[in-house]
Amino acid sequence: MANDTNKFQAIISHCKEYGFIFPSSEIYDGLQAVYDYGQMGAELKKNIKDYWWKSMTQLSDENIVGIDAAIFMHPTTWKASGHVDNFNDPMIDNKDSNKRYRVDHLIEGFADTLATDGKEKESNELITSMEALIAKDDFAGLKKLIEENKIKCAVSGTCNWTDIRQFNLMFSTEFGSTVSADDEDNKVYLRPETAQGIFVNFLNVQKTGRMKIPFGIAQIGKAFRNEIVARQFIFRMREFEQMEMQFFIRPGTQKEWYEKWKATRLEWHKSLGMPSQKYRYHDHVKLAHYADAACDIEFEFPIGFKELEGIHSRTDFDLKQHQEYSKKKMQYFDNDVDPATGKPFGNYIPYVIETSIGLDRMFLAVISQAYTEEDLSTEDKKDDRVVLKFPAKLAPIKMAVLPLTKKDGLPEIAEKIIAECKPHFRCFYEEKDSIGKRYRRMDALGTPFCVTVDHQSKEDNTVTIRFRDSMEQERVPLNRLKEIILEAIV
Ligand code: ATP
Repeated sequence: MANDTNKFQAIISHCKEYGFIFPSSEIYDGLQAVYDYGQMGAELKKNIKDYWWKSMTQLSDENIVGIDAAIFMHPTTWKASGHVDNFNDPMIDNKDSNKRYRVDHLIEGFADTLATDGKEKESNELITSMEALIAKDDFAGLKKLIEENKIKCAVSGTCNWTDIRQFNLMFSTEFGSTVSADDEDNKVYLRPETAQGIFVNFLNVQKTGRMKIPFGIAQIGKAFRNEIVARQFIFRMREFEQMEMQFFIRPGTQKEWYEKWKATRLEWHKSLGMPSQKYRYHDHVKLAHYADAACDIEFEFPIGFKELEGIHSRTDFDLKQHQEYSKKKMQYFDNDVDPATGKPFGNYIPYVIETSIGLDRMFLAVISQAYTEEDLSTEDKKDDRVVLKFPAKLAPIKMAVLPLTKKDGLPEIAEKIIAECKPHFRCFYEEKDSIGKRYRRMDALGTPFCVTVDHQSKEDNTVTIRFRDSMEQERVPLNRLKEIILEAIV
């Protein structure tokens, strides 16, 4: 593989060819930055979701419950949360090509080219200057930075830029049939994050679940953002899914919980067998309007280190805002005794630590890590394979059952194996083509175990398991097969 851009393109093609991801409404030439998950992709995505959900709720050391809030929310939600006024990205247009860029992406792209040309120092300095200017919302300064560095538009090749403006990322629509499009009162938004569905339900869950602080509420769901530069496959989409958890804590304890969740979330990634050197933290210089500390967990995608998950200390901003806008109390009565005063902590608006990961970005991380091209050539034969080395628990198909031939009672044995195993994990049956071809196809889908039924199986009730990564084969008794696979996929 010549470079990672090639690898990224190879992954995109592989995803399409093997039924993981298709461009949305492809017969109409697709819709920019919107994708559909195919038969393999939907399984992989669901397995990632299930793994997150189970570790964040059922298996967590903390008390965390899950909800599923609606995508549409009362429009005031987004005024209270600050999204109507603040959910903007600074953008700039090139006057010659009319192409619009997000200012940070334009500058980062140029910094990447500098780094590739060996100008690491200049690249780092440019990013530092950019972050300082963004932190001050200094748009004139940012434009000057673009001009001084002679950053060009990729389409026109010129530096003929407009001034920098803010662009709101929320999609809106209207409720009801008689409403005119410009009727602000009936405007509803497609949620740009799932978090607000948790905040507005904070008291419902706390009261009905008799939850005691500290506790968490988790949710998986769709979010929508009208991204200005929507490219890079499923890394940045206009419709995507988030897996978020809001952890409600006593004010003053946020530093310690923030550090704890930072560490816990990185451990979660590693628990999937993802290599540590592919991860790093990036602390935010410019904090969002609601945060007193924030960092990203970045992953090294084939397109470089980029944000995969955000950990945010959101203070009491959201609950306080909802209290103010809804005129409903968003308070919690804490009857634990404060050692400093000897009295209960009493009423307060809880502080919140949020962990927020993009499901699609996690999918991209998993498939980028799994995608491997192997040269298997020997002295007398050229050979290679593409294999997706998914963690077994995430693999879309866990076991393929392959009778060596279509006759002699072998398919019947294979069908019996499938009937026994399919209530427990996803199986796949294939009798067409040579066994070698069938193995390769399963490698390309990331199936960790191929079970071959041959003539010996009829005599001694054994089958061969062929392991995807090592390609080694082992004969095992038929009556142990299900247990062996079950042990390997937990
Ligand atoms: P970015 O800086 O990349 O735009 P963000 O900081 O705006 O991301 P958050 O608001 O913190 O992202 O959202 C939490 C997570 O949701 C991100 O870490 C990312 O994994 C995911 N996410 C955000 N925007 C998108 C998108 N357009 N497409 C896919 N996933 C996204």
